[in-house]
Amino acid sequence: MEKYLSQLNEAQLEPTIQIDGPMIVIAGAGSGKTRVLTYRIAYMMSKGIDAFNILSLTFTNKAAREMKERIATIVGASEAKNLWMGTFHSVFAKILRIEADRLGYPSNFTIYDTQDSDRLIASIIKEMNLDKDIYKYKQVRSRISSYKNSLITVRAYFQNPELKEADAMARRPRMGDIYKEYVDRCFKAGAMDFDDLLLKTNELLTRFPEVLAKYQNRFKYILVDEYQDTNHSQYLIVRALSDKFQNICVVGDDAQSIYAFRGANINNILNFQKDYDDVKVFRLEQNYRSTKNIVNAANSIIDKNQTKLDKVVWTANDEGGKIKVNRSLTDSDEGRYVASTIFESKMQDQLKNSDFAILYRTNAQSRSIEDALRKRDIPYRIYGGLSFYQRKEIKDVLSYLRLIINPADEEALKRVINFPPRGIGQTTVDKLIVSANGYNRTMFEVMKNIDKTDVKINSGTKIKLQNFVTLIESFQVLNQTADVFELAEHVTRTSGLIKEFNKDGTPEGVTRMENIEELVNGMKDFVEGQKEIADTTGSLAEFLEDVALATDLDADKGDVDHVALMTIHLAKGLEFPYVYIVGLEEDLFPSAMSMNTRSELEEERRLFYVALTRAEKQAYLTYALSRYRWGKLVDSEPSRFIEEIDEQYLEILTPIEERRFNPMLDADIFGDVEPNKIRYKPAKQAVLKKGSAKKAPEKFQVTTPKNLKPVSKTDTNAKTNLFDSKLVVGNIVKHIRFGTGEVLKIEGTGADTKAEINFQHGGVKKLLLRFAKLEIV
Ligand code: ATP
Ligand code: MG
Repeated sequence: MEKYLSQLNEAQLEPTIQIDGPMIVIAGAGSGKTRVLTYRIAYMMSKGIDAFNILSLTFTNKAAREMKERIATIVGASEAKNLWMGTFHSVFAKILRIEADRLGYPSNFTIYDTQDSDRLIASIIKEMNLDKDIYKYKQVRSRISSYKNSLITVRAYFQNPELKEADAMARRPRMGDIYKEYVDRCFKAGAMDFDDLLLKTNELLTRFPEVLAKYQNRFKYILVDEYQDTNHSQYLIVRALSDKFQNICVVGDDAQSIYAFRGANINNILNFQKDYDDVKVFRLEQNYRSTKNIVNAANSIIDKNQTKLDKVVWTANDEGGKIKVNRSLTDSDEGRYVASTIFESKMQDQLKNSDFAILYRTNAQSRSIEDALRKRDIPYRIYGGLSFYQRKEIKDVLSYLRLIINPADEEALKRVINFPPRGIGQTTVDKLIVSANGYNRTMFEVMKNIDKTDVKINSGTKIKLQNFVTLIESFQVLNQTADVFELAEHVTRTSGLIKEFNKDGTPEGVTRMENIEELVNGMKDFVEGQKEIADTTGSLAEFLEDVALATDLDADKGDVDHVALMTIHLAKGLEFPYVYIVGLEEDLFPSAMSMNTRSELEEERRLFYVALTRAEKQAYLTYALSRYRWGKLVDSEPSRFIEEIDEQYLEILTPIEERRFNPMLDADIFGDVEPNKIRYKPAKQAVLKKGSAKKAPEKFQVTTPKNLKPVSKTDTNAKTNLFDSKLVVGNIVKHIRFGTGEVLKIEGTGADTKAEINFQHGGVKKLLLRFAKLEIV
């Protein structure tokens, strides 16, 4: 048997070597679903199946890249190159480019990102003179998105009185008109938004049987990871493509379905067996990721959900430490707790920053955590913010590039027509929009033929418009000979962007310049990199497609060692040795907006399950008794999810404010706070808020020492307090992880005393004595 297959257990091996027919692997977190998919592809290729015939759909492009790399190590890089692997969006964007003309789109269509969609919708709302407080563009966009993901086209919308009624009830009777205008404008601009990439693929596969047949024959084998989070539109695509050969393998975990709010349909996984004939169902039960405590705690949580498939998850891994639960007074205290314990563990166990992840329910929670990490000088990175390519200066450059490829691109045009400023005001732009709509032409066409239109502008403005057209056309000419990198260098200079950002002179301006430089350098990599990747030609169009679909997870080159901060939604499929789940408070997690129905609450619980199961070695749950939300300090209560975990897997820590005050230690652990400024509140006062005493179960009442197992700083100190003892060179000491070792050198004084120790296991290490749990033997 192939050697790599020995890296699978028996239950994993079965679905891995089952190649033909429909099959589903339903299994809990960390049981190797993604590993099975990866090895299965390698196995298929080793059995002679052409990479060209395999389509593999993942939840992020980063996951696809990692899978591909792993497969390349097994079957060889040149073989793995031809695999079609990526998110639904990136794979079908490629297919749509090939088939675009059938749908009336140019093959170089632009992909509008959320920002572009938002701007266009806002502009339509304004043009239609609608009240922007009722027609909030983000809400309108999410409504349009849900139509598209349910395959409700504009025509279907107007044929369905119920939809119109529902929007009218929501005080948005013109919703359908906005939808229509939005769709028309995107079409005219030669642009597809993210949802179109799926909607248009469906249209393509239903309207053109020959196209369907072509891709059915091509993708004889289809694999889908995270199947529980596919939406209706994605479901239909998979269903159609796999219909002929029915070689479809999906893996997923119903307990990790967390995208219902974006249209994911958990029934896709529940009904899979009904959709195909003779479905083989595989289950994996052994978790390889986490400790026993984490696996068992996660099981005890998900058990509370009624809607679920029965599953067993167990692990042969170590028991591990219990899950630590920490209460803080405020969100800032919570941040400090997280930062200081990360700092401590790093010191004690010689860990990397990247061993830690901090997960939260909402992005807004990152601020207090960031403050604390910064004060401790712990490098971190927030994922899920704006992707690099959505930053203002980058979008400015990209907009010029988009116009080169597709001058119909309305959002790109509006963005740069007067940036850098060239005296073309908003009134002129508005006139162009009106005229373009009137003639059913693009804005660029109107500008080009300004003399033949009825646009009333003075001759000075006319010249400015013509100059802009000439500028873009000169770029188009250059694009025929230059590569992306040369083009971008030329465009940033000639358009005046560099000069504009340079003259700014502020630190922000400098950062912007650096970002542009990074973008241009990235293009150089792209141009050089494409020589090694068979399925790209390194064209500008391709570059733009890559960046339109890039998320900031993709930008992570893993070169800087940092703590990862992200929402739980984004953490799906990932794993980290140490995981903090912060803000475990009622109304925050579970979210106040998701407590109306049982099914909403169950989705929140699944989200908590996802969060907890990201942890390999140790999980921390933290909550604060008060927190700044919407600019106000609000009281909060511990999340029901903490209570729902079987108590035997938890270790309730002594809240910081109740620890015996130790100026030396606290001053240092909370280096940013003067010892006498540390808030000290008696335990009772802190917890017994109105009404909460009754509600909180015993384990949250901190009044009796019985139910607290304090891991107090004082205790730790007794052991670690070697820095003022007589430790000298030559001493033999014992460390809990590294075993016995000899002290080689002592540096520094007081709290900063460090010792260089040569350990039997682990070699020479430099340890800060106040953290290293050392004993002289
Ligand atoms: P999730 O539900 O979170 O997506 P998953 O089921 O996809 O999890 P994987 O990510 O494939 O699980 O595997 C979890 C971890 O266990 C990974 O680090 C993986 O390398 C490891 N693993 C899986 N199977 C084995 C095995 N047979 N032997 C050793 N390690 C394994
Ligand atoms: Mg996985």
